Order: sequence, then C-alpha cells, then structure tokens
Amino acid sequence: MDEIRNQIEYSVLLERIKNVYRKISSAAIRSGRSPFDVTLVAVTKTVPYERIKEGVDLGLRVLGENRVQEAQGKIEACKLQCADYELEWHLVGHLQKNKAKAAVHLFHLIHSLDSISLAQEVNKHARKAGKIQRVLIQVNLSEEETKHGVPRKDLMDTIKAVFGMKNLKLEGLMTMPPYFENPETARPFFRELRECRDQAEKKGYHLPELSMGMTNDYEAAILEGATIVRIGTAIFGERS
Ligand SMILES: *Cc1c(COP(=O)(O)O)cnc(C)c1O
Repeated sequence: MDEIRNQIEYSVLLERIKNVYRKISSAAIRSGRSPFDVTLVAVTKTVPYERIKEGVDLGLRVLGENRVQEAQGKIEACKLQCADYELEWHLVGHLQKNKAKAAVHLFHLIHSLDSISLAQEVNKHARKAGKIQRVLIQVNLSEEETKHGVPRKDLMDTIKAVFGMKNLKLEGLMTMPPYFENPETARPFFRELRECRDQAEKKGYHLPELSMGMTNDYEAAILEGATIVRIGTAIFGERS
C-alpha cells in the first residue's frame, strides 16, 4: 500500500512542477521575455528532506528556506544525498543578526537583507569566510508594521551602503506584498518594486533581479517583471 501511495504522491509532485513551469513560461512570454529569464525557487520550508529529494529528482535545482535553523539539517542531508546535482539554496525569510554567520555558510543567495546593520554583519562574516555573498534587499512597500523590509524612503541609502561593502554582491530587490485573494490586487506592489529598481538603475546601480511572486500571485509578478519567483504550496501542497 505504501509503495502505491508513494507512486501516486510522486506523480502528483511531477504534475504540480510541470504545471508551475508551464505557467511561468507562459507569463514570461506574455511579458516579452524568455521562460529562461525567470528562476523558480522551490520553497521547501516544513517539507521533509525525502520529499525535497523527490523534487530534485524531478528537476528542481534552486531551493528556498525561510529559517536558518530548519535549513541547516536539510542542506547537509542534500549535500550527501543529492551530490550529483548542482543545487542552489536561497534564504527567503527574515534573517536575525545572530544567524548571519550560519547563513553565509549555508546560502548562495540571501533575499532578505533589511537593514544596513544586518548587511554589515553579513559582510563581516562573508569576509571571514573568504566569500562574496550574493544578496537582495527586501523592500517593505505596504508599510505594514509586521512585515520585514526596508521602507521605500530608506531604500536608496541602503542600496548605496550595500554596494560599498566589498564582500556583498547586491543583485536586486525582493518584496512580499500582503496576501490578497485576487492576485491583481498585488500587482501595484510588484510594479512599485520594479519602479524602485528602475530608479536605482538611473543612479548607476545595476540591480537585475526582482524576487517577487508566490503561489497565489506569481503570474501577475512575472507580468510586472519578476526574475525570481518563490513558490511553495503550488509545488509541495498545503503546509500543515
Ligand atoms: C513561504 C514563503 C514563500 C512561498 O509561499 P507559497 O504561498 O507557499 O508559495 C515565498 N516567500 C517567502 C518569503 C515565504 O516565506
């Protein structure tokens, strides 16, 4: 029985991944870009290692976690068990300063730099580790108190400061709009992040990446220029 159940779950996972790639491709083309211009980050928070491994076997290569502690064990297991694959791990959730060192050792890209002081801490640990840490700045566009991210008014100063840190490579911006039933309602936030990027580019800061869009709204985000989408539920199902 278990064998059959595993087979079914595996096919369900395959269908979900295909479906997500289909929608990403179609939205990318509608936005005048190539499907290869959009990176899928499969968000694996709460997903057990065995299931992640199945996703990797089915083609997932970029994986996202939102907590350093939870990620640690999974990343180590994957290093041993998925050694045949070139995997990339991204931190998509909030980073506390006291986890900066661990994060530098674990993640290829940190999406959630949200203050100059956190950037300094990450830069310090990257320097000690002899690493150039790829990062994005998380922007809080909804100004919700509960949301992490740099407020728009402080963004240019933060960009300037991070560009000055030798062991950080700032690649772009990330945002997480409030949850809306209708993804069209989130679209102005996605457009605003793109405008923030365009403004920074005018001042000479090259910021190619826009990390925006989750299960409920990634097509809208791609239509507004997302280059990275972070998708959990649409791939692994509802989190318990
Ligand atoms: C959980 C999470 C996601 C994925 O959310 P889904 O709605 O399950 O696709 C994306 N980004 C961040 C920062 C998350 O914490």
